[in-house]
Amino acid sequence: MKLLEGKNVIITGASRGIGTGIAQVFADHGANVAFTYSSSEAPALALEKELSAKGITAKAYKSNAASFSESEELVKQVLEDFGGIDVLINNAGITKDNLLMRMQEEDFDKVIEINLKSVFNMTKAVQRTMLKQRSGSIINMSSVVGVKGNAGQANYAASKAGMIGFTKSIALELGSRNIRCNAIAPGFIETEMTAKLDDKVVQGWRDGIPLKRGGAPEDIANACLFFASDLSNYVTGQVLNVDGGMLT
Ligand code: NAP
Repeated sequence: MKLLEGKNVIITGASRGIGTGIAQVFADHGANVAFTYSSSEAPALALEKELSAKGITAKAYKSNAASFSESEELVKQVLEDFGGIDVLINNAGITKDNLLMRMQEEDFDKVIEINLKSVFNMTKAVQRTMLKQRSGSIINMSSVVGVKGNAGQANYAASKAGMIGFTKSIALELGSRNIRCNAIAPGFIETEMTAKLDDKVVQGWRDGIPLKRGGAPEDIANACLFFASDLSNYVTGQVLNVDGGMLT
């Protein structure tokens, strides 16, 4: 059964990793997929081709999620190209890890701008459309680190915790218009972002996971599928940990 037939979806940061996984699963479920990248043009265009071959409409857009004006411009363009927006997934994110002692101001600001301000930019840009149609689902990609903190990631943890506060506030503001807003808190998911981590750190994370393995982008995509589809019609303001039991 296809759960997103004919729905129009925007995913930020889908040129690789979790975003690519979401785009693939959503296209398999009949969604039309607009997605962004900031610099990885070749993989983005390859994904656009791969998704289009599934018989849905897919388009890659170069757009910096940290920029308010670029986000507004992007949404305007997607509305022109796709004719509507039913689902927004705020997935773009970066890390710039360091202990507070060594963390530079620009490393703090950059992570907050790309991970958190982007969520404000994109949510504000789609709000009018979703309000008019009196429906919509917004999904924010937080992290277990935003729930429990992590030494060496104060900037990242603050951005991901901020996303949870934002999610709950928007769920309260827009619920009466049938617009739902939920967050996902992935645990350790094997992508380029986590490939950068030290082997010892990775082993430490794995040891602490009850399921004793890292997750795959599809595991997060399936959780997004639930929040994007009618299966979660009565669910808003929630944070779903998809972490192999890490936070249990
Ligand atoms: P990834 O492999 O590093 O991919 C990040 C994606 O975000 C890329 O497509 C990248 O595109 C895009 N991006 C970066 N900066 C951007 C910007 N300014 N504007 C638009 N797009 C931008 O990361 P991932 O592991 O898939 O993570 C995806 C999301 O899940 C992130 O928010 C991350 O914090 C969250 N998360 C990941 C894990 C994990 O274990 N992997 C755990 C918890 C949460 P370009 O290459 O073009 O820059």
